[in-house]
Amino acid sequence: MSLCNRCLKGSIVDLKFGERLWGYCGTCVSFNVLDKGFVSLIDFCGGDQMVVRAARISYGKESKGAEQDRKLINYMMKHKHGTPFEHSLFVFHVKAPIFVARQWFRHRIGSFNEISGRYVEYQEEFYIPKSLRAPDTKNKQGSVQAEFSNEQELIRLFADSISSSFRVYKTLVDSGVAREIARAVLPLSLYTQFYWSVNPRSLMNFISLRTSEDAQYEIREYAERITFFVKDKMPWTFSAFIEFGFEDGKNKFIDSLKSQINKKS
Ligand SMILES: Cc1cc2nc3c(=O)[nH]c(=O)nc-3n(C[C@H](O)[C@H](O)[C@H](O)COP(=O)(O)OP(=O)(O)OC[C@H]3O[C@@H](n4cnc5c(N)ncnc54)[C@H](O)[C@@H]3O)c2cc1C
Repeated sequence: MSLCNRCLKGSIVDLKFGERLWGYCGTCVSFNVLDKGFVSLIDFCGGDQMVVRAARISYGKESKGAEQDRKLINYMMKHKHGTPFEHSLFVFHVKAPIFVARQWFRHRIGSFNEISGRYVEYQEEFYIPKSLRAPDTKNKQGSVQAEFSNEQELIRLFADSISSSFRVYKTLVDSGVAREIARAVLPLSLYTQFYWSVNPRSLMNFISLRTSEDAQYEIREYAERITFFVKDKMPWTFSAFIEFGFEDGKNKFIDSLKSQINKKS
């Protein structure tokens, strides 16, 4: 039985979202991501009704019933009236390789707190890819699946280099060197953990940019799972977002969600 990477209990079940099948832990509301990472929704406040109330304050009014409220959300999404989507809050706990966190932290509208390598001694937890990719010849910033005749040997080299760096880190720390300087020998695939608090408007911007095929595979794995939490907590906002936030054919993941919704309706 596979373990949840967050609570380390065997509570993982398969969760189907669009065409994806992900390991989900209902105990700690968390998805396993990559080999040792996770994304967990640890708090949430607001919701679709908060969007409606924020929008209607302009007229000193609140809800007008489900049908009218939903239409209003669709209207605001379609016409890019973004501010009513800023009054809810998602709080995530994330464990991701440093190179993923570094891309994530570029999203300035939101708040981060990260584990400190000055105070905590790192464990030997690194991301080791299962397979390697080659540069995409059509898209300069992308990569594609590729066949390497010596793939296993290359992955072993990757892992050996990491183990060797970690051994040096341990030797430095055990010899009394401060963690803040010893950590400088560690590679970018080291797992870090952080809290991320973000409003739905900024979260939708993150999802648009980071589920796109232009984004690196590893951060896409997180962004796609985060999309599930938006659907779960704000279903009207989510439907409006995938209907009006993306042109067809621009984002394969979102297209697959659209086709699921269309099949159901
Ligand atoms: C595929 C991909 C490749 C990338 N490659 C690179 C790269 O090579 N090098 C690199 O440095 N970065 C790169 N980035 C990061 C990118 O430039 C953005 O920093 C990141 O995606 C955050 O996007 P954002 O600014 O929209 O988000 P946020 O920082 O969360 O901002 C949200 C929105 O708020 C507004 N906003 C925020 N701050 C300001 C401001 N100071 N002035 C005006 N408006 C503001 C903008 O409308 C912005 O879209 C890449 C991102 C992606 C998705």
